[in-house]
Amino acid sequence: MELTAQEVWTTIRDSVRERIPEHSFQTWIAGARCVAVSEGEVIVEAPSPFHAEWLEDKYGDFIVDAAAEVLGGEVNLIVRAASSIHDDPVPSVRVDSPSDAFPDRGLPTGAPSVAPVGASSAPSMAPGPPGNRKPAGLSLTDPGLFSRYTFDRFVVGGNNQLADAAGRAVADNPGQLYNPLFLYGGVGLGKTHLMHAIGHASLSVDPHRRVAYVSSEQFTNELIQAIRMGATDRFRARYREIDLLLVDDVHFLQGKESTQEEFFHTFNALYDAQGQIVVTSDRPPREMEGLEQRLVSRFEWGLVVDLRPPDYETRMAILRTKAEDEGLVLADEVIDYIALSCSSSVRELEGAVLKLLAVSSVWHEEITLRFSKRVLALRKLEQQDRAPIASPDRITRLVANGWRVRPEALASKSRSRNITEARHVAMYVVRELLGTPLQQIGEIYGGRDHSTVLYSIRKVESRMGEDDEFRGRVEDVLAELRGDDASPFHY
Ligand code: ADP
Ligand code: MG
Repeated sequence: MELTAQEVWTTIRDSVRERIPEHSFQTWIAGARCVAVSEGEVIVEAPSPFHAEWLEDKYGDFIVDAAAEVLGGEVNLIVRAASSIHDDPVPSVRVDSPSDAFPDRGLPTGAPSVAPVGASSAPSMAPGPPGNRKPAGLSLTDPGLFSRYTFDRFVVGGNNQLADAAGRAVADNPGQLYNPLFLYGGVGLGKTHLMHAIGHASLSVDPHRRVAYVSSEQFTNELIQAIRMGATDRFRARYREIDLLLVDDVHFLQGKESTQEEFFHTFNALYDAQGQIVVTSDRPPREMEGLEQRLVSRFEWGLVVDLRPPDYETRMAILRTKAEDEGLVLADEVIDYIALSCSSSVRELEGAVLKLLAVSSVWHEEITLRFSKRVLALRKLEQQDRAPIASPDRITRLVANGWRVRPEALASKSRSRNITEARHVAMYVVRELLGTPLQQIGEIYGGRDHSTVLYSIRKVESRMGEDDEFRGRVEDVLAELRGDDASPFHY
């Protein structure tokens, strides 16, 4: 008996639902509908262009996999936006040929009501006095942590002096000096910290200022929510009332045209109302791929400042502050040793201090220079062990070669079976050998979501348990990368 498109879609949805968090399901999948299914092709319609972009990016792989299980064989997924959110509930049906088309009937009447992505995803406004327990005005996922992100605790050195000064100026006179303030730099260099510090400082100057901190992801989720509810006007109006808007990690918006478009409008509205905007990114505006030129120029209107890795003196000062925060007394020689051996980011310095603290409390040992050398050398070894000669680049090339696909294809949108499989294997190998964070792996392989990466890795793992031939191929790649002969465990 043949299945109708509706039945196929229901099965696909159920299968995807098991694999992703319920709120993600409600946000992204529940409101989408299937327009047509034919052999090898599934056409899904999302309520808006934003939704379509995100649905495809975040959950496309899940849908394709589930569809392949249901339909058998390779499946091409097409995600498109409904022409109007309040479209006629009966979708147009694409019929290829009578035998392989499943007219879609009996669709769910309208999208199910959707739980908000979490109240915290809305920028929380903060008219409250600074005496509030929580860092007033900031929408936080982890308030305890963020309350520590103040200027007081921000150690200033040659690497971040300008960013610090600009941040303070903006906090004192929002909307007047540098608008927008664009802060960029690598991971763990203090962008988020500085941004929160600006928020705190601005509120201490004037507790009635309306300050809002949002990650780019929250911004997007909230926007999609608004579109879904037909409440974009309210969305814009709310943003327009903000005095100081802090948007973290805008590199996340790269390639998301529709979201950028709305961001652009929000930006302009706020700017016209003399609201201050601060954004952070991992790279300067010009280097953001897929960012519209007009948004690049908007960003460049104001002040663009970078944060660099701390120099030796700054590292010493940061370590003193961090040790103090943890109630640790570290000898100068220990601080000196850490400062010399950890130089890439502030986060690395913090990691070293925490490692010392943890090991010393487990082993009941005092943190002497000898102890620190031992512990941190071990830590380095652990890291090196996970990161031999392999690099994501080399991994990509080797896997592509083994799977007979072009290396670039692994970062492409293509979902042909061979390419998808190679991509999954590459993700698995990068994770296995380099311990790279999921999000970063997603960025390497075509800007995929971290949950997609996790899912892909799990798939490789489970298949390795079932399919000896496949496992052999993956292990060959691993062995090659580990340089088996050079391995310390190989005699
Ligand atoms: P980013 O957002 O650039 O990835 P974060 O702001 O999250 O980096 O900083 C990483 C960690 O390092 C945080 O715990 C932060 O408090 C700390 N940190 C960064 N820069 C400084 C600094 N100049 N002084 C003190 N702590 C800092
Ligand atoms: Mg950050």
